[in-house]
Amino acid sequence: MDIEELGEFGLIERIKGSFKSRDRRLIQGIGDDTAAISTAGDKAILITTDLLLEGIHFDLRLNSAYYLGRKALAVNLSDIAAMGGIPQYFLLSLGVPRRYPVEFFNEFFRGLKELSRDYRVRLIGGDTSASAGKLTISITVLGEALRAQVVGRAGAAAGDQIFVTGTLGDSLLGLKILQDGGNPVHSLRRLPRVVRKHLDPRPRIKEGRLIAEKGLATAMIDLSDGLLADLSHLTREIGLGARLWREKLPLSNYYRRNILRFEKDRWNLALAGGEDYELLFTVAPAKVEPLKRLSSRFDCRLTHIGEVVEGKEGLKVVDKKGKPYKIDIHGYDHFCTQAIS
Ligand code: ADP
Ligand code: MG
Repeated sequence: MDIEELGEFGLIERIKGSFKSRDRRLIQGIGDDTAAISTAGDKAILITTDLLLEGIHFDLRLNSAYYLGRKALAVNLSDIAAMGGIPQYFLLSLGVPRRYPVEFFNEFFRGLKELSRDYRVRLIGGDTSASAGKLTISITVLGEALRAQVVGRAGAAAGDQIFVTGTLGDSLLGLKILQDGGNPVHSLRRLPRVVRKHLDPRPRIKEGRLIAEKGLATAMIDLSDGLLADLSHLTREIGLGARLWREKLPLSNYYRRNILRFEKDRWNLALAGGEDYELLFTVAPAKVEPLKRLSSRFDCRLTHIGEVVEGKEGLKVVDKKGKPYKIDIHGYDHFCTQAIS
């Protein structure tokens, strides 16, 4: 069997299966947004790593080195946000093709440095090698949280309410706009906000911290693969179902006005578009009101988009009248596309 048949998640499951071990200090291992390890006192260290490959994750004809530098760190910070943690340090590893221009790295480091300052994370090491192929970037972030406040993916229960920060589908719409224009990105000022969302995502560290500190979420994940795919990690993977209210999905004004220029179905990108880096989380009914009050301190909107149900009901999107909406879209998988039903 080829890896293509097994799929990205199938491969990760195999790895998980063959490296099973017990460790009292491990709070979260393979399968969450970050690993979480108990340290002295009441703290936990959070560790996460992400790989960015030229030609797979980014296309330098549609991106700039500056924004790539920012995004390479931002996507890792987003995983720390999804655990409710505070990012602190990072490692940077580069596989560099011999003929890459030095100016590329000046700009890449400028972007990386700016974002690291904004979020107060410090570069503490890494590795550098020549690459026989394309540019490879790997960033590992270390963060911290109080052990009792770490929010994993597996805590939801039927009856919990589903919330999401920000708006959905903008990042992929932004990418489609870039692909349509085919121009390199020099300045974001003249580009639509959705393009900025794609090139320069802002990890929801502040919101993740607030939610975790007040103990408001039973489970949380950041949206990297698309709403349905990521929601299935919070529900289907632990034998639960979910009902999403289609009309409640938060869409930006730009998305509403322009989506039909790019897609036949207006909901597709909101349900399955990846890389929004918003927080998706579940909340026990008694905590819904405290959460709504807390959201006045968020830098983005907060939307109640559905509820967790028993597993036999599956993952459903319903329209205004409560009628199931046929989902015929696919979540993102690096080796193949797996249907979500
Ligand atoms: P995210 O989108 O939040 O970065 P992924 O879908 O990439 O998460 O990964 C899911 C889980 O699988 C994470 O806990 C990650 O650490 C783990 N994982 C992914 N690839 C590997 C690997 N090659 N070896 C061990 N664990 C892996
Ligand atoms: Mg994640």
